[in-house]
Amino acid sequence: MKRMFKMLFIITISFIFSINVFAVSNNTSLKDLKDKLAKEAAEVKKVENKQKQTKNSIIALEKDLDKLAKEIDDFELAIKNSKTKVTELEEDIKNKKVEIDKLISFKQTTDVENMYMEYVFEAKSFTDFIYRSALVEQLVKHNDELINEMHDLIEENKKEQINLANKIDASENTIDKLNSTLKKYNLTMDDLVDDHKDAKADYEASKKEVEAYEKLYKQNGCKETTSILDCIDIPYADGFIRPLKSGTITSEYGLRYHPTLHYYRMHNGIDIGVAMNTPVYASAAGIVTKITRVANPSKRNSSCGGNKVYVKHRVKGKEYTTAYMHLHSISVKLNDFVTASTVIGKSGGGESYDYCTTGPHLHFGIMKGSTYENPRNYVNFPKLGKRFTSRF
Ligand SMILES: [Zn+2]
Repeated sequence: MKRMFKMLFIITISFIFSINVFAVSNNTSLKDLKDKLAKEAAEVKKVENKQKQTKNSIIALEKDLDKLAKEIDDFELAIKNSKTKVTELEEDIKNKKVEIDKLISFKQTTDVENMYMEYVFEAKSFTDFIYRSALVEQLVKHNDELINEMHDLIEENKKEQINLANKIDASENTIDKLNSTLKKYNLTMDDLVDDHKDAKADYEASKKEVEAYEKLYKQNGCKETTSILDCIDIPYADGFIRPLKSGTITSEYGLRYHPTLHYYRMHNGIDIGVAMNTPVYASAAGIVTKITRVANPSKRNSSCGGNKVYVKHRVKGKEYTTAYMHLHSISVKLNDFVTASTVIGKSGGGESYDYCTTGPHLHFGIMKGSTYENPRNYVNFPKLGKRFTSRF
């Protein structure tokens, strides 16, 4: 019995505790936003550091590639020199052979017209004759030795040529490998440049958002830890309606294989296929609290998400934020009060717009506090692939 009570007590305490945690995490305060801003700043820094690292790796790889290309040039020059050397040696051998032939023919002939015979018989004495004969013999032997040496040199050169050719092959293999690594690094660099643009755009938007709240908190004399709903007059709303007059559901909220980024990631909203430049409405009354503008929304690869508008709502005492992404144009300003009939901007998306989209659409998300939830929990959307023609 005592144990039962103990169990019940623990369960009750943890239940109360979990409700508290829930309540705290549900309605955000200025402090929460400042903490988030710090995280976004860190994210920008992280991407910048990765960019620096990748840039350094690319520079190092390019240096290695230059070095290898120079090595190959040196090897090729060495092979060329070695081939010239072999040709020269072969020429020398040929000449030496002619010389030997001449010397041998002297030894085999009795022709007095022969230059060597003359030379021998011009001898002044028998001793001189013997001496000159021996000299011819020695010359033949010496030439033979020279030819052998030259043959050895040719062999050495040919071996060296094979050796150099192998070295060239090895260097070329390394170059291929380095080039494929370089290609990967360059792709990573492209991604990082885009990531940086996104992170920076989000950070700048959050910074302006915090500044706007700071002003309102100061005006209303609130503490940083006070929730936004308790400090600021966020308009009351009963619920949410569709942000477009018509459209087709093209993608659901949840974990999905990203169509253009090609990996699994969380899809924090619902995608509604709609023609470019269609008016987008606020889903409920509220205040525009954050606007993310990309540097060049008409240039592909400029950002993932494009222009974004965030509207803060108070629905049945709870804080919500709706997010509208891939907007082609924005027609509201920060801190603007909106109703469900306010056009916040015109839709964009499409392949020519940003690299995260494959067709014109509106990405619509709903956050309860600071957590994204399935918009279907709040808005009546038709099934995936089905079209709607009214806002309800
Ligand atoms: Zn989407």
